[in-house]
Amino acid sequence: MLLRLRPATDSSLRAPLLKLAEELGYSVRFLDSERSLAELTPRAEPGLAGAAHRSKFEDLTAVAAVLSSPESRELTQGGDGQPDSVVKIGAARFGGGHFSLIAGPCAVEDAASLRSIAHAVKASGAGVLRGGAFKPRTSPYAFQGLGAEGLDLLRAVGDETGLPIVTEVLDPRDVELVASKADALQIGSRSMSNAALLKTVAQSGLPILLKRGLAATVREFLLAAEYVLSEGNPNVILCERGIRSFDPTTRNLLDLGCVAHLKQVTHLPVVVDPSHAAGRAELVTPLAKAGVVAGADGLIVEVHPNPALVHSDGAQALSPEAFDTLAKSAQTLAALEGKTLALPQAPSPQASPEELKA
Ligand code: PEP
Ligand code: MN
Repeated sequence: MLLRLRPATDSSLRAPLLKLAEELGYSVRFLDSERSLAELTPRAEPGLAGAAHRSKFEDLTAVAAVLSSPESRELTQGGDGQPDSVVKIGAARFGGGHFSLIAGPCAVEDAASLRSIAHAVKASGAGVLRGGAFKPRTSPYAFQGLGAEGLDLLRAVGDETGLPIVTEVLDPRDVELVASKADALQIGSRSMSNAALLKTVAQSGLPILLKRGLAATVREFLLAAEYVLSEGNPNVILCERGIRSFDPTTRNLLDLGCVAHLKQVTHLPVVVDPSHAAGRAELVTPLAKAGVVAGADGLIVEVHPNPALVHSDGAQALSPEAFDTLAKSAQTLAALEGKTLALPQAPSPQASPEELKA
């Protein structure tokens, strides 16, 4: 493990570092005359505690950064010939050469619109239905979602269409209820660093769609995923949805560099959410296409036929027709990237008898 020490690190701050290294079984060698680079070599074979060791060193006042730590691999880390993980939500597959589309309304508002959106996005090739029942709104006075009633609507429409459903859970106390209805749990941007929530959703055993915090570094994002993986749940899909920037032109700044970077450093699948990045429907398709080319293993897109009527995120909702066009472009681009799209398998009960037999 290679550590960069803070410039003014005096011997009183270095002492805890040397003590910790001794306790954890590392020998320490300073690589420069200023003693600002420390190489730690495990005296015995590196064990499973390696990842925990890295965090312990990171916590020390003397340590500015852990530069490399081949012997303390974190669970999110990829490379070294390790195959990419494939995460399944129902019949949809993300990662390891598989590409899938998630689509649906921002929030579940009523049965009729949810049904029509679900049938439409399925026909366009979406493999997972999204929809919020518990909404993390900026204002406590804004529409907070239909809660348990919204979950029941999602489950019913999921069963009717054969689409698996992903929905956000905001509170550890709701995890059991939401997990009993959903096929995958979404951790929203505002909750990415809620460690208690991450541990609780991990224990549900369901796939987790983890959105990047609005001001989270890539390292913080990966450590949030590490919380889920370290609880024994390997099924995490990372979602880049844009970060806060100085410029209000787009709602959030879609960090495509992060997408390309993540594809190199982690085995986990990465999806792009162009809707919350754009904030405006007319920008969603170009950002979605850019996301696929940057390496995304899937897209999550908000769709609604009557954006003017919805309580949340209407301005960024694509019409079902616009989503159909986006889906076709995404499939073409994903194919160019060597990825295959698994189309929804289960027949919809509304399909014709011939289709049901096929
Ligand atoms: C959402 O998916 O509707 C949502 C609230 O997303 P985010 O957490 O990325 O803001
Ligand atoms: Mn939304």
